[in-house]
Amino acid sequence: MKVLVINAGSSSLKYQVIDMDGEKIIAKGLCERIGVAGSIGHIEHKPQNGKPVYDNEVEFPTHSEAIKAVLDVLVSPAHGVVDSLSEISAVGHRVLHGGMKFTQSVLVNNEVKDTIRSYIPLGPLHNPANLKGIESCEAVMPGVPQVAVFDTAFHQTMPEEAYIYPIPYEYFEKHGIRRYGFHGTSHRYVSAEAVRLLGGKAGSRVVTCHLGNGSSLAAVLDGKCVDTSMGLTPLEGVPMGTRSGNLDPAIIEFLANNEGLTAQQSVNVLNKESGVLGISGVSSDFRDLEEAAGQGNHRAQLALDIFHRSVSKTVASYFAVLGGADAIVFTAGVGENAPGTRAEIVAPLACFGITIDPEKNAVRGTVDITGADSKTKVFVIPTNEELVIARDTKEIAEKIL
Ligand code: ADP
Repeated sequence: MKVLVINAGSSSLKYQVIDMDGEKIIAKGLCERIGVAGSIGHIEHKPQNGKPVYDNEVEFPTHSEAIKAVLDVLVSPAHGVVDSLSEISAVGHRVLHGGMKFTQSVLVNNEVKDTIRSYIPLGPLHNPANLKGIESCEAVMPGVPQVAVFDTAFHQTMPEEAYIYPIPYEYFEKHGIRRYGFHGTSHRYVSAEAVRLLGGKAGSRVVTCHLGNGSSLAAVLDGKCVDTSMGLTPLEGVPMGTRSGNLDPAIIEFLANNEGLTAQQSVNVLNKESGVLGISGVSSDFRDLEEAAGQGNHRAQLALDIFHRSVSKTVASYFAVLGGADAIVFTAGVGENAPGTRAEIVAPLACFGITIDPEKNAVRGTVDITGADSKTKVFVIPTNEELVIARDTKEIAEKIL
């Protein structure tokens, strides 16, 4: 069975075609600048069957044109990977916000689309794009099962004390204001892999650190999420590339009074101009920060120090939530590729008897970097959200095909 995985962002669309016999990626690509007025869109398609990469400028007024361009290139003689679209058995869509309704992946029908639409206030940038991705596929691939896989679903097992905010309870009842958490597909995948590496230990306690452009951590007990660092939106938690993470909410009023910013403008600053970019003034990219810090740039070093400290503190807090931990997992762009960052984050955790092996930590792709005397395993596990989406899609689609 071949599954198309779609990750539709507000102005971009990433895709993969995965042959589920052997779980091999047979094509992947990206459409950029969708619906961005005055700009020329772009598609890059990488077939994995030896055919040349297709890299072209294409107008994408809406997501429909992008989906159409993807499907065209998938069957094109020069760059295609299937003879006809009928070879694509199902489509899996990453959907950002599944609110409280979706605790797992679901087959898309009208009711599911209405519910995703009802959560647009919770995911104003992503849910409309995700819906457009679904509707565009339905239009050009009628009858092909579409499956929605939610970023929030894995975190729906959190207990009330993890997800209720200490604000008047009626805001939760009236508006659904609570912690939802994001990156759920990634936390689910890497925590399951960690349990596998722990030999399938029952009652396993795993802390997952998804550290990328956006970063979040999760506390996972016996395969179920019991706490996570992102909240109502992906703005909460540790500092990120451009997002502030946790801070005193009174800062928003202070910015209103002293900088004349509206609440919306302030939140925009906290989402797009803060985090390690805001602190350093250098970049949101951790590679640039490491380079600048290496050249003696104090604010770049400060940004890294603040990031490390915040992640260490969050890991430590999950020791209290889980009653200790059997494994800590690092994943995503920074977690997988930055050994120095991993070392800095783990160093203060020596108080819990946790160490990493500096040699193993330096080797790219090594999974187990646990120090010889460490009481807790430390793993580097590359995340694979697309594979999880494809697996869920296959499982759900097979029931109706
Ligand atoms: P996203 O949250 O957009 O999915 P990724 O998980 O792909 O992001 O992470 C991207 C980030 O990973 C980049 O912004 C960069 O800071 C970081 N990164 C990638 N490679 C390295 C590296 N070798 N060293 C340090 N940071 C890295």
